Amino acid sequence: TPQTVLVTGGAGYVGSHCVAELLDRGFRVVVLDNLRQGHRAAVPSDAAFVEADLADMDALTRVFAEWRFDAVFHFAALSLVGESMRDPHLYLHGNTVNSLNLIRAATTAGVRKMVFSSTANLFGTPERLPIDEETTIDPGSPYGESKFFIERALHWADRCHGLRSACLRYFNAAGAHPNGIIGEDHHPETHLIPLVLDAASGRRSHIEIFGDDYPTPDGTCVRDYIHVCDLADAHLRVLPALETRSVRFNLGNGTGYSVRAVIEATERVTGLTVPVKVGPRRAGDPAVLIASSERIRSELGWTPRFPDLDSIIGSAWDWRRRHPGGYRGPALAQAAE
Ligand code: UDP
Repeated sequence: TPQTVLVTGGAGYVGSHCVAELLDRGFRVVVLDNLRQGHRAAVPSDAAFVEADLADMDALTRVFAEWRFDAVFHFAALSLVGESMRDPHLYLHGNTVNSLNLIRAATTAGVRKMVFSSTANLFGTPERLPIDEETTIDPGSPYGESKFFIERALHWADRCHGLRSACLRYFNAAGAHPNGIIGEDHHPETHLIPLVLDAASGRRSHIEIFGDDYPTPDGTCVRDYIHVCDLADAHLRVLPALETRSVRFNLGNGTGYSVRAVIEATERVTGLTVPVKVGPRRAGDPAVLIASSERIRSELGWTPRFPDLDSIIGSAWDWRRRHPGGYRGPALAQAAE
């Protein structure tokens, strides 16, 4: 019999790619999303869909009464570092209360496994690179702090209720599913790669580089971009480990690319010119963030299938061309390629 799983935030960017992977591998999937940032069109018709907010405990109780879940994948959250610096309460309250509701509903229903989307922001500005699981946790923002708090709540849910959890600390999720149906579409968009693609296609006048005076080879910030399908793959690989223990893994490619390197790769991949302006630094941006994913590689045999920047950007470009304007814009027929 197929396993049944709940995916909160399954209409969002990383969540929808995980849903696609789960369906591909024969899971029965129930998506719960409030659609404030997620897109209904990102959830395929072979997944059940519940429009609800995690703040609504009654709705959660109904969902856990209707299905018996073998595992819960928890993506639903506010996820903007900058917004959390302007409104810490929104994150420290919203993300944590919603997650505590979910953990309570899951433990009450006797669910044994939860996979949680955590963040590299747990490590703030780390004292050494690459960032592994032994790196000191010192969240860089209220957003990161809210994720750390939830990791701790999951620690106690294991100790007290036997709910095993995998906390996956993502670095920079990027790219899109090769099926061309799902991709990255935030409102407002703040992430580098979709913004650079829009600057290449002329939907935006230019890309602003947030600072070119960092202590890095070309002066721009270096980040570890990981293909969203490689993230999704990791979410499924942790399930067997959860039979015996809770785990925490950092998830990145292990390679850093500068903002200028992303822009150059985009010009290579698209054959278009990206107009660039250099602006001031963005508050709170560390110069370099690179993950060590050695632990998940050696313990679970995970390895990225799309490690190089050009293939990551190429997949994002592919989706963007088919969906100019994202999910809300007209989708171009794939045959038109
Ligand atoms: N960035 C930039 N211009 C933009 C958006 C982002 O120069 O319009 C830089 C940002 O300073 C960071 C990198 O691109 O160094 C990745 O930013 P993003 O917001 O995509 O992800 P983050 O690293 O903040 O999670």
